[in-house]
Amino acid sequence: MKFGTKTIHAGQETDSATGAIMTPIYQTSTYVQTTPGEHKGYEYSRTGNPTRNALEQNLACLENGTYGITFGSGLAAIDAIIKLLSPGDEVISTNDLYGGTYRIFTQIFKNFGIKFHFISMDQTDKIRSLINRNTKMIWVETPTNPMLNIIDIKKIGEISEEKKITFVVDNTFATPYLQRPLDLGADIVMHSLTKYMGGHSDIVMGAAICKNENLAQKLYTIQNSCGAVPGPMDSFLVLRGIKTLHLRMLRHCENGKVIAHFLKKNNKVEDVYWPGLNTHPNHEVAKKQMDNFGGMVSFNLKGNNLKDALKVVSNTHYFKLAESLGGVESLCGHPASMTHAAIPKKEREKTGVVDSLIRLSVGIEDVEDLVSDLENALNKL
Ligand code: PLP
Repeated sequence: MKFGTKTIHAGQETDSATGAIMTPIYQTSTYVQTTPGEHKGYEYSRTGNPTRNALEQNLACLENGTYGITFGSGLAAIDAIIKLLSPGDEVISTNDLYGGTYRIFTQIFKNFGIKFHFISMDQTDKIRSLINRNTKMIWVETPTNPMLNIIDIKKIGEISEEKKITFVVDNTFATPYLQRPLDLGADIVMHSLTKYMGGHSDIVMGAAICKNENLAQKLYTIQNSCGAVPGPMDSFLVLRGIKTLHLRMLRHCENGKVIAHFLKKNNKVEDVYWPGLNTHPNHEVAKKQMDNFGGMVSFNLKGNNLKDALKVVSNTHYFKLAESLGGVESLCGHPASMTHAAIPKKEREKTGVVDSLIRLSVGIEDVEDLVSDLENALNKL
């Protein structure tokens, strides 16, 4: 089955009771048993729900994995994955990552005795030098949020395999349409389904996908024991969103390219971060591991003035100023004061999250309207 066919058909059967073509929303908490333990495969909706299970199978198939496990948000998925660890374990993580991921690592799990090292992942010798017998996980986001750095998944997969370390890739920005980390050596793919996968800014949900049965069983146990499960209605909405993932992503990539090139030529703009530009430092890696370059574009302004950045994001019309990304509509954000405010200024500036950095989630509108929207806002400076 090719990708576009998988988005529509994987994990989804015509309803045997009615012939309904769409997966029914099983809005139920429990399931009747004939005698104790005798039932149709479902006992209680925290443990399993047919609508959620259809989504989980669909996700596993899209990522070329075997098991999909969903959660009430992307952060709940991260929470579950880190719960695979024990006090004393160490994690090597990319230093340029979503602020909420940084927050759960440093403000929650650090208190449970887990040690996190944040480094730039293009230095594989640095990764090797940090590995010791307590290192149990490598955490990578690529493209990174918000700097759009690209990390070589295959290279890190080789290290993690050699050292027997669980390798997790947050694939939220790329989606399986652009890259499939399990094929490149990752053990777990993590998603904020809230973003491109759902695609319509109408749900919050997360997932972990893997091939290894032992890892999957542990994640199912955490899902059922800790209980951060998504509801059937939201699972249905993500399933519906995914049916057009391939079409939406194609348009996000096309529009992202036009916007990146427009910004590159604008005299108010200092740097443009989009992995499809041949000036991007990781462009060659991006070409190797991604099928296209996505719709996320970041840029900073000449003079690096906070006021200028706030003026631009407050003066766009189609690019709505909001947290989040990956919906059909365009959004803009100011990472330093919004998505990445949880990261101390000194730390974030080291990775390029300066005061004038603006992050765009380029939507699927007509790109001419998007260009003139940005042009108008930049002309106000
Ligand atoms: N990972 C990335 C890359 C994100 O951008 C986000 C949210 O913005 C998350 C994880 C967390 O996901 P959620 O907001 O669904 O909890």
